[in-house]
Amino acid sequence: MTSTYTTEPTTGESYTSLATTYSVQINTAELELVAFLMGIPDDSRLSTAQAVRRRTTREAYRYAHAADIAQRMPTLFSHFRDDGRYSVDHLDAIWSRINRHATALHAAGADVPQCLDAAVALGIANWIRTTGITALTAIADVADEVLTAVAPLIVETTEKEEAATVSLTRRGSRFTLDCGSEFVADALWSSISSAALDVRREALTDHADQTAKTAPPSPPSPPSMSRCRGEVALGALGGRRDQLKVTVNTYRMRDDGPAYILGTGWVSPATGAELTAIARHIRELPPLGQVPPTDAYRFTTVQRAHIEGRDGHCRFPGCEIPADDCEHDHLVNSPHTDPDSDGSTSVTNGICLCRNHHTLKTAGIWEPTTPDDALTLHWHGPGGIRATTVAAGPLSPAGHPG
Ligand SMILES: [Zn+2]
Repeated sequence: MTSTYTTEPTTGESYTSLATTYSVQINTAELELVAFLMGIPDDSRLSTAQAVRRRTTREAYRYAHAADIAQRMPTLFSHFRDDGRYSVDHLDAIWSRINRHATALHAAGADVPQCLDAAVALGIANWIRTTGITALTAIADVADEVLTAVAPLIVETTEKEEAATVSLTRRGSRFTLDCGSEFVADALWSSISSAALDVRREALTDHADQTAKTAPPSPPSPPSMSRCRGEVALGALGGRRDQLKVTVNTYRMRDDGPAYILGTGWVSPATGAELTAIARHIRELPPLGQVPPTDAYRFTTVQRAHIEGRDGHCRFPGCEIPADDCEHDHLVNSPHTDPDSDGSTSVTNGICLCRNHHTLKTAGIWEPTTPDDALTLHWHGPGGIRATTVAAGPLSPAGHPG
């Protein structure tokens, strides 16, 4: 028997039209969500965007910012919606370019934002009409150009402020250090680089020695400059495993099995064994059936370990805050805080919520219910939005590998 495979014609034109079709569909859906968010109160937009999109908090911010700009620039937004080439990123970029000056604007007086909004909206509309260019970077540049022209003092104040601000942020294993000024960044870069050069020279000498001594295949290549810079920075900050003093909450089902680290996820049996070997505290968790409710308001250590292990993360839709950075919430209020309620202090009535989402639940903006002892949560929120999350930590039936 023979099989024949056919493919779509591979002309440039068909791919181009396909790309346009997808792009317009995605953009349209994005701006529809932005329009929906405009009908949600300001302070609930972020959580609503997060519940609907189920992506990162950063992604939810893009939608909340976009809804803010859509409200402030209704004519431009309606043009964007009709056109199909504009995404939520275009609106978010405009928001960022204006909001960059928030502190300086605040000091300059409350009436400034409206006239700035109008000027930026007009500048962008004119740019698009005369050039036809819709690129994200171009739109952001036009916003900056208008701001520099109509509010030079505000831009200058912001620039001075930014030069004096430093920040360090983290995403996964990547750190981003903002030195504020290019001058400081240059100085830091050159001192890290010169230390890295020494590390690399040493590695190159070792490599040459080993290559001369051993028969092919030759030893692994010497480290790159970027790797050496990283080693220098980690060494200076004490970022080596044997130097770290941190609390790493780790779950292991079997001595020879993989381990789950809250905030990191599953790691290999070898890494699990390494962490177990250096751990100061190891606790045998009793099975869930042997962890009874208690009369106190606070959850016990064992209850908390079960709740965090079951949840893994904050239980709000799309939230990624690790369970051990969360607060422990009584799903049904405890009589200690609400005399009309009879929620127990137990694993099945405890959930992990980050501070932000805990506050929204307490305020009644978002209300969760569970059909199965907190494994599944059905959330009811603003604008009739409903969303469901299922516990996916290492102790949850849904989160256990294999
Ligand atoms: Zn959260």
